Formats: sequence, structure tokens, C-alpha cells
Amino acid sequence: MKTYDIAAIGGDGIGPEVIEAGIEVLQALAKADGGLGFRFERFPWSSQLYLDEGHYIPPGGLERLRTFDAIFFGAVGSRKVPDHVSLWGLRLPICQGFDQYANVRPARVLPGVKSPLANGKDIDWVVIRENSEGEYAGMGGRSHRGLPIEVGTEVAVFTRAGVERIHRFAFELARKRARRHLTLVTKSNAQRFGMVMWDEIFLEVAKDYPDVEHDRELVDAMTTRMVLKPATIDVMVATNLHADILSDLAAALSGSLGIAPTANLNPERAFPSMFEPIHGSAFDIAGKGIANPVATFWTAAMMLEHLGEMVASTRLMKAVEKVTANGMHTPDLGGGATTAQVTGAVIAAL
Ligand code: ATP
Repeated sequence: MKTYDIAAIGGDGIGPEVIEAGIEVLQALAKADGGLGFRFERFPWSSQLYLDEGHYIPPGGLERLRTFDAIFFGAVGSRKVPDHVSLWGLRLPICQGFDQYANVRPARVLPGVKSPLANGKDIDWVVIRENSEGEYAGMGGRSHRGLPIEVGTEVAVFTRAGVERIHRFAFELARKRARRHLTLVTKSNAQRFGMVMWDEIFLEVAKDYPDVEHDRELVDAMTTRMVLKPATIDVMVATNLHADILSDLAAALSGSLGIAPTANLNPERAFPSMFEPIHGSAFDIAGKGIANPVATFWTAAMMLEHLGEMVASTRLMKAVEKVTANGMHTPDLGGGATTAQVTGAVIAAL
């Protein structure tokens, strides 16, 4: 029997609720499968820990995390801690420390789910987000604080190595899909340096993938194309900031933020990869037992795929789709079901 060691970090808000639901479903899957096992270790790294002890990740925490096969992550963000502190305290040190440079966000409308788009059934996309540099590289500073001449800079950093590897990853992923189509999204009309370099390197890498069709779109035009012509899109690759925004749009167009999954991959597997729902800690519904766990289940299916457990991954997604098709929906999808009810239904379907 193959047993995987998974680090579970629930984090804040609804994070722990959906991660516990995900663990329940994965354990049920292991039981139904027979040849598969999981050992979960829970890490209480959260904004509460930060408020109590002054850190999200305790000393030595990343080294400990490194020994796991994968990281199953909920959400970080609290009303009591500024967002930039919580993000840079927990999620970004893991993504950047473990060189999880490829962020993969599939979007499609699951059976039984209603898209706000009339032609929502045409959505079958993968958004690939550069996850290690760009606008979130952490470069910048503030001078003359508090004075009328105060200045703040936020510098986007694009390296040839960083850009080339994400483009290669995107082409490899697009190559494995039926349509084999990749759209490059930048803003190289207004931003003349890093963005133009993105375009140039993309076209260089494209020469190695003659079997993948490609096109280009400016990020603002891409938002309208996603809404008006969803069928023209298959895989898209964009910078850290642009893809962050586009993938939230993709999630909303697919029915709800409560459905959309993400993988933060270190494709070379030198470090563990991290799997998380796209949504944040959603304080408005935390503690009410009504968070949609589907994004976390889909996230778990992506984790299984990364671990090489394709059969188990497909089995899990089929069970999830059976439940969404039957109309067992949490309130974000217009239903009245609780997290526990959806979780129970998925386990029954398994
Ligand atoms: P953060 O600042 O941590 O990103 P947030 O609360 O500002 O979090 P999200 O958590 O991303 O933003 O979600 C925005 C809204 O979408 C939430 O307030 C909630 O109503 C809804 N939502 C998000 N995730 C879910 C979910 N899993 N189930 C149900 N509703 C959700």
C-alpha cells in the first residue's frame, strides 16, 4: 500500500472547516480504494498563532514542512492582521521558499452548477499563473514616511529564467489537453520592458511546441474575451498579478469562488507542492458550517494527480460531480446544504 504524508494547514476563517472536510473525504477515498493511504499532520499556523506568539511559521517550520509529500492548505487572512502581513507571513514564504513557481487553476462549470454566463458550458480553461516573481516579488520600499514627499515603489521583477520556465510549463500542460491551445496574456503595449520580454521569450519557447496553437491577448482584452467568447480559450499563461485577477474572474464565471481549486507546483519536485482552494478565509460565513467544500475536494483531486494517483483523482472528481449534479448545494450556489452534508454526500458517492 502506498501511503502519503500530507501536511494540513487549515489557516484562518473557513480554511480549517474546508480542510477538515477534505481530510475526511480523502480518508474515505483511501478506505474505498484499499491500495492508498494518507498520514495527515495538522499544523496550527494561523493568524491566531501570529497574534499569540508573533509568528505564522515557527522557527524550523519550513524545514519540517519540506519532508512531506504535499501540503494541503486552507486560507490565510484575518480581520485582526493586515492582509499584507498574513500573506507574507504564511502563504508566500511557502510558495517562494519551495519554489512553487507554477500556479495552476482549472475552471469549468461542474454538473448542476449555474454559471452567470449564458454560454457558461463553454468554460473549460486552465489559468497558469507565474507564482515566484513578477509583481509579487517583494521588491520595493517606502521613503520619507509620513512626510508630504513620501514615496512608495512596487517593483515587478521578471527574470529570463523565471519567464522561460513558466512558458515551458504552460506549453507542456497545453500539449496534454485535447485542444492544445495556449494564450499568452500580458500588457506589453503600456509596459515596455518586462512585459515585452515576456512576449519575446514566449515566442522563442513556442518554437519548441509546434503542436500547440498559440495566440496573444492584452490582459484588459482578456477579461472581455473570457466573458464574451469563452469557447475561444483553452489554457492561458500570465504574470503573478494578472493571473491572480483572471483566475478569480474564471472562478466566478464557473459558478462560485467556493468551487475553484489551485495547485502551487514545484514541477521539478525538489520541494513539496501546495494545494489550496482559490477562495480566502471568507469571514462572513466562518463558523457557520456552510462553507462550500467543493473547491477543497477539487484541490484534493489535483493533489492526487500530482502524486501520480490518477485513478483515485478521477474517482474523487466523479463523486464530487455526482453530488453537484444532484443539487446538493451550499448557499453560495443557491442551495441550503451545509458543509457536513455535502461532505457526507461525496463520501457516500465514493
Ligand atoms: P481573503 O481576504 O482571505 O482572500 P475574503 O473573505 O476577502 O478572503 P474570499 O474568502 O476569497 O474573500 O471570498 C469572498 C466571498 O466569497 C466570501 O465573503 C464568501 O461570501 C464567498 N466565498 C468564498 N469562498 C467560499 C466558500 N468556500 N463557500 C461559500 N462561499 C464562499
